[in-house]
Amino acid sequence: MRGRLPAGATELTLDGKPVKTSADGAFLIGFSRDSSSEAVLAWRNADGSAASRRLAVAPRPWQIESLPGLPLRPVPDAEYERRRPAELARIGAARAVPSDLMDWAEPFRRPAEGRVSGLFGSQRIYAGTPSAFHAGVDYAAPAGAPVLAPVGGIVRLAEGPFTLEGNLVLLDHGFGLVSAFLHLSRIDVREGQVLKAGDAIGSIGATGRVTGPHLHWGITWSGVRLDPDRLLAE
Ligand SMILES: [Zn+2]
Repeated sequence: MRGRLPAGATELTLDGKPVKTSADGAFLIGFSRDSSSEAVLAWRNADGSAASRRLAVAPRPWQIESLPGLPLRPVPDAEYERRRPAELARIGAARAVPSDLMDWAEPFRRPAEGRVSGLFGSQRIYAGTPSAFHAGVDYAAPAGAPVLAPVGGIVRLAEGPFTLEGNLVLLDHGFGLVSAFLHLSRIDVREGQVLKAGDAIGSIGATGRVTGPHLHWGITWSGVRLDPDRLLAE
């Protein structure tokens, strides 16, 4: 949700946590797949009075696939176990860079052509044990097809291959909103580079843990996983 505080209002919080606002009161908040059903926005008006608003959060129908006869058996992978903590620390630090960019307020465009082959929120349940839900949108396209910035931002990470993500680019759109582009065959940007909407990021590939070439586009807001599809312009 994008919003704006009344003129002169300050100290915006969501469920008690501070939310960044621009000089003219613009702000961004987001909810993930398994959010609680109610949230409270609170702020202080220009006259010093406290104000708040309750938000009802409704779940959407997620694509859940139950595989009762197929137990989830993680394959032991010593190299993954060895490398993963440092990878997660690197990705987490790149996502957490504070940013005053306002690109999040612009309309988003799809970063790749191709059929949507995976929806945000979908999940498989193996013999009663749910796996992690799919936290992005997948676009199936041939390896080498272009990946373009859905909106402007600053590149915070451009490297790989990571064990799961393969070659990965993180693009900061400001106010805690960060796009992730996974499994790239080629990266065309470098850390610190400023991109406009439509600039080349790299090429679709099959690096990391995948079964075929596709782009996985993920979005986080202050660490909360959002559905990128909800940000696309109608
Ligand atoms: Zn995916």
